[in-house]
Amino acid sequence: MKIESMTAHEIRSGLIEKRFTAEAVVAACFERIRQAEPKIDAYLTLCEADAMAQARSIDERIERGEVPGKLAGVPIAVKDNICTDGIKTTCASKILYDFIPPYDATVAKKLKDADAILIGKTNMDEFAMGSSTENSGFKRTRNPWDLERVPGGSSGGSAAAVAAGTVPLALGSDTGGSIRQPAAFCGVVGLKPTYGLVSRFGLIAFGSSLDQIGPFAGTVKDSALLLEAIQGEDPLDSTSVKHAVREDYLSGIEEGVKGMRIGIPVEFFQAGLDSEIAAAIQESIERLKAMGAIVEEMSLPITVEGLSAYYIISSAEASSNLARFDGIRYGYRPEAFENLEELMEKSRSEAFGAEVKRRIMLGTYALSSGYYDAYYNRAQKLRSKIREQFREAFQRFDLILSPVSPVLPFKSGEKSSDPIEMYLADIYTININLAGLPALSMPCGFSAGGLPIGLQIIGPHFGEDRILKAAYALEQELGLPDRKPAI
Ligand code: GLN
Repeated sequence: MKIESMTAHEIRSGLIEKRFTAEAVVAACFERIRQAEPKIDAYLTLCEADAMAQARSIDERIERGEVPGKLAGVPIAVKDNICTDGIKTTCASKILYDFIPPYDATVAKKLKDADAILIGKTNMDEFAMGSSTENSGFKRTRNPWDLERVPGGSSGGSAAAVAAGTVPLALGSDTGGSIRQPAAFCGVVGLKPTYGLVSRFGLIAFGSSLDQIGPFAGTVKDSALLLEAIQGEDPLDSTSVKHAVREDYLSGIEEGVKGMRIGIPVEFFQAGLDSEIAAAIQESIERLKAMGAIVEEMSLPITVEGLSAYYIISSAEASSNLARFDGIRYGYRPEAFENLEELMEKSRSEAFGAEVKRRIMLGTYALSSGYYDAYYNRAQKLRSKIREQFREAFQRFDLILSPVSPVLPFKSGEKSSDPIEMYLADIYTININLAGLPALSMPCGFSAGGLPIGLQIIGPHFGEDRILKAAYALEQELGLPDRKPAI
């Protein structure tokens, strides 16, 4: 069984038609992990024994004639900031190095209900802060297309796990691009859902007003399938939304793009964009036009300012969210301390990494009295303007199309000494989170050096079905998913 080239759809139908067992699928998956993982290092925790036991129980149920769930027997990897009952969840931070949640995040529970099989927890930038997975407190993950390069971040482990063919599906979280950018860097499909479509209960918070959990997959249809399984209103998350849109993203996915109005924001194609990325996006635009889409240039003037607003708002929320990690309730605690204050100070100084400390300081400063109006309030005003700009844009257009990242996957260490340079690379993804919109990143070509290039399709709130339709049409037209990294 060549698990690395199987889709979730193929695995599920193979099981139901009894062409193979879930046990064989999971065995093949761990075989592939043993081959690829020493080179990639995508996982922080592997759950082989539990996965095998779950596979056997699914096989027994199929044998008894039961119809299993939507994701029956499909191996899945989950980012390590999503709580999993009884399985270590570290956020790639030393401060949570031994944290074993006593409950499942809603998405983890939904995966179980759908009979997906949890294979392991994936590496990430500490507390999801970063764009290269180099900020992990534990290890570096490498890009399966070029082992010297980063897989993107912060969900770099999930993207690399799918790209390396160790799992067909994975979950990530996206606060400012952390699903879309690693998907682009690793040549897979990543979808950041509308804010509120997927429950955040059990997702360890970074920027609560921006965070969303979403799928990684090798194909557009597989990402639609996983989105179906995890979405939905949740009484445990008051920001989750009961939406009126149909939940079956697959039924209309083959309808095509004929007559769709697609906007191309000029600000996303200005100085700083790599020329090979620009050329690949242009090629996709031509293909979409040839398939009947109506493509037009448009303007989103405050794209650049959005970047500043994002780094103030996300850091402000992070400084508040991370206050709970104090060495007392859970996680890392230093050996020696004189009093309560020293306990907290030492725990946080010793166990948080440099980027997390930088964000906490930035956020605390922006929220402090005297600076609140100058920074936090102004950033919130900008956020309203950005929302308004997108609202107007979606009165004229069905979708907006852009690059995901201005740069190709960079080498490990290339940007880690310059945080501002790293932040600038988020320019095309962060505004979408500020506006709460859904957006998908999909492979649209390769550089001359063989590195994947991502394309972003942005939709209106709850426009996931429309995004998936366009993505599927383009995927079929480009025929890229057949190309795999040589590992
Ligand atoms: N790279 C961005 C940041 O560092 C986005 C991270 C994310 O989406 N979690 O904040």
